[in-house]
Amino acid sequence: MLYKNKTVFGVNRKNEKVLRRSIQMIFQDPSTSLNRRKTVGQIISEPFHIHKYLYRKDYEDRLLEVMDMTGIPKRFINRYPHELSGGQRQRVGIARALSVDPEFIICDEPVTALDVSIQAQIINLLLSLQEKLNLSYLFIAHDLSVVKHVSDRVAVMYLGWIMENADTKTLFSNPKHPYTKALLDSIPRLEPEGPKRKVLHGEVPSPINPPHGCRFHPRCPRKIGKICEETEPPSVETSDGSVVKCHLYV
Ligand code: SF4
Repeated sequence: MLYKNKTVFGVNRKNEKVLRRSIQMIFQDPSTSLNRRKTVGQIISEPFHIHKYLYRKDYEDRLLEVMDMTGIPKRFINRYPHELSGGQRQRVGIARALSVDPEFIICDEPVTALDVSIQAQIINLLLSLQEKLNLSYLFIAHDLSVVKHVSDRVAVMYLGWIMENADTKTLFSNPKHPYTKALLDSIPRLEPEGPKRKVLHGEVPSPINPPHGCRFHPRCPRKIGKICEETEPPSVETSDGSVVKCHLYV
């Protein structure tokens, strides 16, 4: 695993501390990722203690600053997570990630557990924070409309492999991998009379024991033959800058 072209494993203790501070995470379900026995103020300021990020006298100012940035009212400082709504809890999760001024945030399905109306608020908050604080996100999601809205570049994964990696516009306008095409075809449309959908058949195999050759071959509508069943496809760069892991593009 590389971060800024350097491995994240085996770094010395001092650099590891810096790395851990600059990479933070927002989790999927705020009702389980926040400590129920701690108040909002304690949850958001816990990273200050762990990373010894500030002088103690500055903790409160930074706490209030981060709460303000994420839209959490000051009066919530002594409330517990169960006293908040889902959207407010996720704001606390975002504030906690931001508290130590990271550069890079892994957002692991950050809106999946929320109502649709709240999802839009949280996504807009993440986008405005990104612009304001110059953050990079790795945004993990199943909802393709959300992915299209928030991403500059998209990597499509299947059973642990990146099947296609392209800038967002190219991926949505000109998908190449058969799995990406099937995913885009599965987005609900408001035209019952529109073109017929291609439905993928079969179950997703176990990731513990993935199929030989191309991992997608048992379900692929464009399987070429033995080569797909026996040989792992290479990742090939196409003329428009997409990278596709499929024998069709070799
Ligand atoms: Fe389909 Fe073969 Fe491409 Fe895999 S390598 S996606 S099975 S065509």
